[in-house]
Amino acid sequence: MKTKLFPDNSQSLIKKYLSETLYNTLKERKTSSGFTIDQAIKSGISNPDSDIGIYAGDAETYDTFSEIFDLIIADYHSYKPDNWHVTNFSIPSLPILDSENKYIVSTRIRVARNLYGFPFTTFISAKERQQVEQLILQATINLPKNLQGQYYHLKDIIGLNSESLNNSFFPKKGDRFQEAAGITRDFPDSRGVFIADNQKFMIWINEEDHLRIISMESGSDIIGIFTRLANAIQILEQNLKFSFSEQYGHLTACPSNLGISMRASVHIQLPKLNKQKELLYKTAEQYKLQIRGTSGEKSNVENSIFDISNKQRLGISEKDCLLILSKGIKKLIELEEQV
Ligand code: ADP
Ligand code: MG
Repeated sequence: MKTKLFPDNSQSLIKKYLSETLYNTLKERKTSSGFTIDQAIKSGISNPDSDIGIYAGDAETYDTFSEIFDLIIADYHSYKPDNWHVTNFSIPSLPILDSENKYIVSTRIRVARNLYGFPFTTFISAKERQQVEQLILQATINLPKNLQGQYYHLKDIIGLNSESLNNSFFPKKGDRFQEAAGITRDFPDSRGVFIADNQKFMIWINEEDHLRIISMESGSDIIGIFTRLANAIQILEQNLKFSFSEQYGHLTACPSNLGISMRASVHIQLPKLNKQKELLYKTAEQYKLQIRGTSGEKSNVENSIFDISNKQRLGISEKDCLLILSKGIKKLIELEEQV
């Protein structure tokens, strides 16, 4: 019998896997900093349309509540017990995807990271959030010249004429999923974005994770974008200690981001497939790709521009991630040209 905690119409993974018996087993447990299962599943309870519906409060959450997290991780990442975190930053050889620049508008690759020893954004205090912001800003000082830039506090950005800003550079206030998870507390304090002068590299601070390290530009130079990201990660790692586990890889607030924590996406315009959504979604699933709307997760598709990325992050390496994206996008472009 499924627990009555979740609304009947919920399709979330948490509803699928959290039986009443399992909930009762977990309900008295706490991580050392005090995070409970009730806090972890709050977003899934408040939002019947959650895909996953459970967040971690700190690194220890994944061990303290491993019985439920392991089931969800296995489902989301198609994770098998022998398929633990793997990493490989070597450059794959990729097919040319869009030589005439007809379909791919832009490419973005990001990784999520959290600072070792601090609670995640779901459970962090205002003071700790501020410390996290300061530590990350100090680390940006050591970035090489080509990645130097400026920090924008979200406090200063809000209220500015948004048309003068490139919206995709700036983290938004969390949606109702993040709000129910506690992520938007004290917004916009200690949130911001570091943007490199070349506008191709940025670090979101205290959005869903302490850091979202992002490399992006127009067009489809996946290798160039990945190389810039890999260099930046290497330098930031010299100054920041990240929360990491051999088994789960980089530890993140949402279990969908474990492992390499990397999402490589293209903004791609597919007007014909937009009229054949079943074929588009079926093919994306077959090629292990996830489709989001033009302004990010849970947003609408505008002008037939889809955000298409890898879905899995645990059990595939960074190199695999680029190969998966390229193979799937190549197929979708072929289909767009055929239908
Ligand atoms: P993530 O969780 O990976 O940071 P979100 O869906 O929360 O992704 O938000 C991503 C933001 O980045 C949105 O503003 C979205 O429009 C933008 N974005 C995502 N992929 C691309 C891309 N390939 N090119 C340009 N902007 C992108
Ligand atoms: Mg996001």
